[in-house]
Amino acid sequence: MHMSATVVPPYTSYLPLAPTGLEQPLTPTQREIYEVVHKFAAEVMRPLGQKLDRMSAAEVIAPESPFWEVHRQYNATGLFPSAIFQLPPEEIPVVIPMVFEELGWGDAGLAIFLTASMLPSYMALLWNRPDLVERFPETDIGCRGITEPDHGSDTVDYDKRAIQAGGRWSRSNCIAKLDGDVVRLNGQKSAWVSNGGVAKHCILYSGFDRGGAENEFCVVYVPLDLPGVSRGKPLEKIGQRAYNQAELVFEDVAVPRELLVVEPEQYKGAAYSIFAAAGAAMGAIFTGCARSAYELALDYAHARKQGGATILQHQSVKSRLFHMFRKVEAARALNRRVYTFNLTNPIPAGQGSIATKITSTQTAFEVASDAIQIFGGNGLTHEYPIEKIFRDARSSMIEDGCNEVLSIRGGSMLVDPERL
Ligand SMILES: Cc1cc2nc3c(=O)[nH]c(=O)nc-3n(C[C@H](O)[C@H](O)[C@H](O)COP(=O)(O)OP(=O)(O)OC[C@H]3O[C@@H](n4cnc5c(N)ncnc54)[C@H](O)[C@@H]3O)c2cc1C
Repeated sequence: MHMSATVVPPYTSYLPLAPTGLEQPLTPTQREIYEVVHKFAAEVMRPLGQKLDRMSAAEVIAPESPFWEVHRQYNATGLFPSAIFQLPPEEIPVVIPMVFEELGWGDAGLAIFLTASMLPSYMALLWNRPDLVERFPETDIGCRGITEPDHGSDTVDYDKRAIQAGGRWSRSNCIAKLDGDVVRLNGQKSAWVSNGGVAKHCILYSGFDRGGAENEFCVVYVPLDLPGVSRGKPLEKIGQRAYNQAELVFEDVAVPRELLVVEPEQYKGAAYSIFAAAGAAMGAIFTGCARSAYELALDYAHARKQGGATILQHQSVKSRLFHMFRKVEAARALNRRVYTFNLTNPIPAGQGSIATKITSTQTAFEVASDAIQIFGGNGLTHEYPIEKIFRDARSSMIEDGCNEVLSIRGGSMLVDPERL
């Protein structure tokens, strides 16, 4: 009997991985895009993000601020949703999370700035409205207005599946009302609107007054140069300081009727869809944020000597770094699966988007905290980038829905009503 030769892979004690970790090798198109976005993240986002982090919220958006340079240079990459959606269908669910992860690796706050800016056009594409992408160009800064002074977690719980039994929603702080051929807007969105002070247009999730007793809601695309729109002052915050957060205030703003894109009958679908899209994007961005902390800690552990050896040779440091590596890989793997599912099925999996949002943001927080431990005292100072990454990661467990509210919502999506 013929015996085949035994082929054992060679032993290796060190197998370096590409920045995309355990993902499949990139196709030529993916590699080309990766190189563009990685260069932008490394050469523009990293240095400018650190500079912006030290400035006051008002200085960040002053005319001479480097903030505008970030936007100008991102526009030059051409990496917009409408361009990515032109790629062969099998490339799209790989390219979108790969780009967003790289942005998060560059600077989590600036990644939120750019993705929140693109969200109105991204939703228009998902909702088959390329006309809106044309009317509100992707090269302009956009924003999303959902939360209000009296409605933070409430807006995430748009179908009332997390609310305490007996709890009642108060009236929206922002109300749209039909008036002939315009929609009149009155009220305000919270100070947490990302890009609120600088955006040219907004995808606005608003209360809708049709005269009934029940709260109703709608979605309007709002050009923010209309008379009656004003903005609050820039918000100071502990993390993600590189971009702007501000209230949007509407005083009798007349928006053309055709920009009322979603009426109450379709509102829950529109809320489901934007939280599914935003949750997946958060999952990618904070995989990148976690990876940045892991990579910095790995480098530092190779360089810093204590007890006569580089600290990486100490077992507890090796073990800590391994858990950081494992968590980053797990966060990325889940995120890629969610993108693949959501972009290839007629209805995205809301529970999947929540799972990746919570997993990646929790991972970023834990990995950044572990990175500080590896940097020791240096990790606590402004001299090293780790404490900023930690602050950026902490904010992510609240933005786009607090993780605990999201987990109640996610759990409610596992309930089969037929079996109750
Ligand atoms: C960095 C950042 C960026 C943001 N960007 C935007 C944006 O672009 N557009 C926008 O509209 N909004 C934005 N937000 C707002 C964000 O979505 C809200 O902050 C978030 O939904 C939580 O609302 P809240 O801050 O009012 O907290 P609250 O709703 O007041 O919640 C406070 C606490 O109570 C808990 N809680 C509340 N309700 C429940 C419940 N039903 N069950 C269990 N626990 C509950 C929460 O988990 C939390 O711990 C952003 C926020 C941050 C931090």
